[in-house]
Amino acid sequence: MKKVDAIVIGSGQGGKPLARELAKRGHVVLFERDEIGGSCINYGCTPSKAFLAAAHNAGRARSAKNLGVHASVDVDFPFVMNRVRGIVKSFRESSEKSLSDAGVEIVRGEAAFSGERIVSANGLDFTAPLIIINTGTTATIPEVDGIDQTPFLTNTTFFSQTSLPRRFIVLGGGYIGLELGQGMARVGSNVTIVHNGDRVLNNEEADVSAALDESLKDDGVDVQLNAKVSRVSFAGGAFAVELEGGKRFEAEAFLVATGRTPNTAALHAENSGIELDRRGYVKIDEQFRTTCEGVYAIGDVSGQPAFTHVSWEDYRRMVDILAGGKRTRDDRVLGYAVYTEPQVGRAGLTYDQAIKKGIRARKEQIPLSDVARAVEWGQERGFYRMVVDEDTDKIVGATLVGYEAAEIVHVFIAHMQAGSTWKTLDDSVHIHPTYCEGLPSLAREFESTPPQ
Ligand SMILES: Cc1cc2nc3c(=O)[nH]c(=O)nc-3n(C[C@H](O)[C@H](O)[C@H](O)COP(=O)(O)OP(=O)(O)OC[C@H]3O[C@@H](n4cnc5c(N)ncnc54)[C@H](O)[C@@H]3O)c2cc1C
Repeated sequence: MKKVDAIVIGSGQGGKPLARELAKRGHVVLFERDEIGGSCINYGCTPSKAFLAAAHNAGRARSAKNLGVHASVDVDFPFVMNRVRGIVKSFRESSEKSLSDAGVEIVRGEAAFSGERIVSANGLDFTAPLIIINTGTTATIPEVDGIDQTPFLTNTTFFSQTSLPRRFIVLGGGYIGLELGQGMARVGSNVTIVHNGDRVLNNEEADVSAALDESLKDDGVDVQLNAKVSRVSFAGGAFAVELEGGKRFEAEAFLVATGRTPNTAALHAENSGIELDRRGYVKIDEQFRTTCEGVYAIGDVSGQPAFTHVSWEDYRRMVDILAGGKRTRDDRVLGYAVYTEPQVGRAGLTYDQAIKKGIRARKEQIPLSDVARAVEWGQERGFYRMVVDEDTDKIVGATLVGYEAAEIVHVFIAHMQAGSTWKTLDDSVHIHPTYCEGLPSLAREFESTPPQ
């Protein structure tokens, strides 16, 4: 058994920088069973956004006809996917280099606990007083008759595609399904999205779903709602997806995007007294402590909001906590985005979430057609909404739907971090004509008496 100062399991978005940081003070071993860099770099954010760069440029070129610009669009799919893989490779290599430059010992293998604070892989046993679990999640595969006999895609294999499928079916109308489904439509496939909910993106507010639904229709995507798949088969190069009720769809490629499962099955966490919750996520307290002393869990696997920037911030929290600091798992304004067109930018609480938390909340919104820049650029689909606490006037949340909403929402994240009221935003003079110019206008809506 090798004794080291710290062990990190998984080279995810928090584990990697934490391993580098801990290596400044002692011997750190990092276990990785797949590619260095975790889901974000290899199978998630990086390849999906590099892919969407091509897809959305194609979509924008086509819709430029609304501005009097008539473009003929020809997407070179093999080139698009090669570029995606090239970016992934360069990000991965720089991750590997940064770990080895920092002196982190990397063990390539699947780690499992074989005793209290004992981690084993490839027949080697390591122990440390400090262990960080950062093993992330993988795609959930639903129990559907026949599916496991077919070469379906998940986010892990989607980016290995080398030729454009003529028809493409996506199972799941969450953010991954919508981003990749709309993307495939924009690069030239005939796309069907099969979703079991009564609206796409059903974790978001209903008008967010409605805006995306319209946009998907414009892209020619066939969205099947309240649809339950009864059987999937693959023969002669084509998938057949059968729905309860008799509908049947065929396609050359089939993507499963129906949620995420925490990577804890292989860990045998019980051997170290580490409890999981009923969904398999590692149970942690406010400061990431598991039920085994000295063992912490960060990022997606600990049930934190499943975003790269959250896992990365978990690393900064852990640095503080290990030094005796007071940071906690949710001591930040949560922001996130959906990279469809239009984009969705979210910060803090929705109106309903605020009410549920007991906040005397008020919301106001403006349509994008009230924003000069949106009209001038022909990007009027969407809206900006802000939620405030009526007792303090503080901004508690925002939902933006529209062009580059993922960027614009940072105005709210900054104001909320600073504890601003809507009046501060109202007093701010934003540049004309920008999308952000709409935000003080939105704040001004709070000057009127709230509707009773
Ligand atoms: C298609 C897609 C698009 C996404 N887009 C975005 C986006 O735009 N923005 C955003 O913020 N988030 C996005 N996400 C989510 C984001 O990728 C995750 O939230 C983030 O990667 C979580 O990081 P993590 O640190 O928890 O672990 P991960 O990055 O998942 O890394 C975990 C690592 O642990 C390894 N591992 C697991 N078990 C073991 C074991 N037993 N032994 C050794 N190693 C193990 C895995 O191989 C993996 O490398 C996207 C996800 C997907 C799937």
